[in-house]
Amino acid sequence: MKFGGTSVGSAEAVAQAAQLAVRTAAKGHQVVVVTSAMSKVTDALITAARQASTGRWNPALRQDLFDRHKTVADALIGGDTARHTDVLDVLRQRLDRFEKLCYGLSMVHELTPRLLDAISGTGEMLAAPLVAAAIAARGRPSHPVDATDVVVTTDQFGGAEPLMEETRAKAAARLKPAIARGEIPVVTGFIGATRDGVATTLGRGGSDYSASIIGAALDADEVWIWTDVDGVMTANPSEVPEARTLADVSYSEASELAYYGAKVLHYKTILPAFRKRIPVRILNSFNPTHPGTRVTVEGDASARGVKAVTSIRGVMLVAINGTGMQGIPGIVAKAFDAVAEQQANVLMISQASSENNICFVLSAADAPRVLAALRSALEVELMRGHIDEITAEQQVAIVAAIGDRMRGTPGIAATVFGALGKEGINVIAISQGSSERNISFVVTERDAAAAVRAIHRAFQLDTNH
Ligand code: ASP
Ligand code: MG
Repeated sequence: MKFGGTSVGSAEAVAQAAQLAVRTAAKGHQVVVVTSAMSKVTDALITAARQASTGRWNPALRQDLFDRHKTVADALIGGDTARHTDVLDVLRQRLDRFEKLCYGLSMVHELTPRLLDAISGTGEMLAAPLVAAAIAARGRPSHPVDATDVVVTTDQFGGAEPLMEETRAKAAARLKPAIARGEIPVVTGFIGATRDGVATTLGRGGSDYSASIIGAALDADEVWIWTDVDGVMTANPSEVPEARTLADVSYSEASELAYYGAKVLHYKTILPAFRKRIPVRILNSFNPTHPGTRVTVEGDASARGVKAVTSIRGVMLVAINGTGMQGIPGIVAKAFDAVAEQQANVLMISQASSENNICFVLSAADAPRVLAALRSALEVELMRGHIDEITAEQQVAIVAAIGDRMRGTPGIAATVFGALGKEGINVIAISQGSSERNISFVVTERDAAAAVRAIHRAFQLDTNH
């Protein structure tokens, strides 16, 4: 079970999380908890690290963090003096470490990714002892476990990747004996350590990834992600009020949805669980009787074509145009080499068979760099007239219709584009991968919400069919 930042964001939330773990264990399940930092703590830590590295220093933050966690301890375990004292001691030790790291930063005036990881993981190291104490106070033995002792990672600080073999061995050694004794270990999400024991993080929002990694390492029956929404929805409810929670999605649908802007699960997160075919459930700790969404290999076998529709904003459409590109090999390769060199992520690509135009969509933040790189990489082609121009269109959005069972079902594209036509929405570019699980297209940002709604309606996604 993984609890997100809001699911451990207050004394009531932590009490609820502990309750959910204890109740599940009481039903005879073996439970391991993975916890995020309390909401907003990671942001505060990162800000503090940045400030410290410029020599500025906010001495109040340590006290703020201590108070916020102490409030939870007071409310949940205040009656048990020994346990309460122990938890406060642990909080103090961890805040000492945090303060020393920041002090070091303020001396050297340089924030390396490695130091940032050591600091930004503090939030989870504060939350885990609290959650464990809350569980223990509800009658199940429980201890906090630092994921630096469990999750072994590469040394890509700020976005480390798990080394599964090593992690498996450590998880078995560190967690299995406790589980066998009937304890509920509470592991810090988000963090890990290299083979040499240097602290790392898995990237922002990485606690879900931690849960999936630890679940896979322990051969869990299921991974449950407790969050503050009921599950994966057919569309963003702020865009489509009649959007509905999906009971079942497949791993591939979940990853398409994550890729295309639905914030519930990060694409990478499900990979370790997917490789072991472990079902992942998205559940709402603030509405725990809701069945949530189950992510499995087969998803919903009875589903029809399109299951969900999503949009991504803040993107830019880059187009390479020119009648002289026809039959000249290598232009595409050169273009994408230039993009790759800028470490920019391409969200969508489209080329018409006339070969007069290649266009692709990038995050707007990457686009200026990429454009400059493209113009210099393709300077000769521009000069010779093989390419007429390289343009960039801002204020566009990608809209994607997603569903495993779009594959081989004729008429889906007709319904998608028919719905847009009826609304008078102009489509700028279209792409369908050969996986046929996704039709994506580009519209102006102004049209995006209407496009999402039109498709949602055309496939009657508001009704449970
Ligand atoms: N606390 C970390 C973050 O805010 C990890 C997580 O919440 O999943 O990014
Ligand atoms: Mg979080």
